[in-house]
Amino acid sequence: MKLRLCHLYPELLNLYGDRGNILILYRRAQWRGIEIEVTPLSLGDKLDPRTYDLFFLGGGPDQEQRLVSADLYAKGPWLKEAVEQGAALLAICGGYQLLGEYYHTFSGETLPGIGLFAAYTEAGSNRRIKGNIAIQVEELGSQPVVGFENHSGRTFLKEASPLGQVIYGDGNNGSDKTEGARYRNAIGTYLHGPLLSKNPHLADFLLRLALQRRYGEVELPPLDDSLEMAANENIYRRFLASKGKW
Ligand code: GLN
Repeated sequence: MKLRLCHLYPELLNLYGDRGNILILYRRAQWRGIEIEVTPLSLGDKLDPRTYDLFFLGGGPDQEQRLVSADLYAKGPWLKEAVEQGAALLAICGGYQLLGEYYHTFSGETLPGIGLFAAYTEAGSNRRIKGNIAIQVEELGSQPVVGFENHSGRTFLKEASPLGQVIYGDGNNGSDKTEGARYRNAIGTYLHGPLLSKNPHLADFLLRLALQRRYGEVELPPLDDSLEMAANENIYRRFLASKGKW
């Protein structure tokens, strides 16, 4: 089996160790004997919707989002076609915002999004949303997904489904308890971290979705995730303790 991963704008969208997610996916595939090829695509590169099984976009501050937005808008139809054909996708924070309909920045600009997610983002005028976050993702059972968020933008879902529900932290907008967005096999989220190192259940979920495109339902042999899960559990308990719930 071979998995083709496309890393979009690696030099522009890479905050708080987001690139680490590629490493995690790479290793977890390799450990199962799955060949994995990572292709970086950036400004001006052509995106063939048939080539890739999994796309990754990291986060980035407004300035980097500005540099990326027109190019991503041009690639939008191909990226959306790939997702319609079953490709999986993970986009974090700044990358996630540009996959909605638009991001209205604090300085008053409107950066167009590609509309993969029926959602939009408005810059927050008061407080920046910063801190630890834990969410519940229905398809992943009771083990929470934990991470770290740092954004001014508030994302509001229209018809888009959330990725999960906030247990602790702010998520999309700090008011409706939703976090991230989901459309077919595409996931957008505010969780940096790098997210997948502390959430191996989410990493495998993405790998399975990505492999489905070419190979149908795939069972991934289990790995020894005791250390990763202990980290997840520990962080989760710490969050709750600081919230006075534990
Ligand atoms: N510039 C965006 C915001 O602050 C995204 C930042 C990020 O990717 N962390 O809302």
